Amino acid sequence: MRRKLAAGNWKMNGSLSAMAEVQALCEAHPEPKVDMLLCPPATLIWPMASMRGEHPLAVGAQDCHPEDKGAHTGDIAAPMLREAGATAVIVGHSERRADHGESSETVRAKAEAAHRAGLLAVVCVGETLEEREAGRALEVVGEQLAASLPPGSTGETVVVAYEPVWAIGTGKVAGTEEIGEMHGFLREALRKSHPEAADAIRLLYGGSVKGSNAAEIFAVPDVDGALVGGASLTAEQFSPIVTAL
Ligand code: 13P
Repeated sequence: MRRKLAAGNWKMNGSLSAMAEVQALCEAHPEPKVDMLLCPPATLIWPMASMRGEHPLAVGAQDCHPEDKGAHTGDIAAPMLREAGATAVIVGHSERRADHGESSETVRAKAEAAHRAGLLAVVCVGETLEEREAGRALEVVGEQLAASLPPGSTGETVVVAYEPVWAIGTGKVAGTEEIGEMHGFLREALRKSHPEAADAIRLLYGGSVKGSNAAEIFAVPDVDGALVGGASLTAEQFSPIVTAL
């Protein structure tokens, strides 16, 4: 049985004052029945991990370098994130693939670095609007998955997040049929590529998830949770999503 996961990606938002939101979120869910994860900017990992104290809320990063150390000015290695208090890291988010030209091969190297450091890798995949309109959504996402996921991935080391690029920050949520089709396709692809782990690897949906649409999305088969952007920034908005799981 896959444990549900409510994950938040703060992107390049938040400050020390936002730790009050973390406290409020922990207080609202003292004994959560689902896994909770927040991924703030790297500068807030340690403050967030300190703020959550004994609460099971996990703290994650938004990216890591494929190597464990070295001459890479401005980058952060997975073991450093781990030391700062992170137990997870998002890799291959579409904004990094677009802004930093990350290929799926790079994403896989980052996921492998996460594995070495004992971090859960949240591997993101998703098609653009152009690709969907050309009828290529399954093909594109299938290729991303095959090239981004390390061979030995298991339910403990990896989570896959399907985030259609056109649904991110746009208020446009993918329809439940589109989500169901893609998640079913991803599960089948995992059965072929990772037969031992396919039923244990969690599949998250991401893209304009809010308290008002979360329950409908979570009812779709093979949706094991959400990766939430904007609505993860405040306890008031994230809390109903956690409750809906
Ligand atoms: P929004 O929830 O703001 O659409 O962002 C989704 C996302 O990109 C999470 O990683």
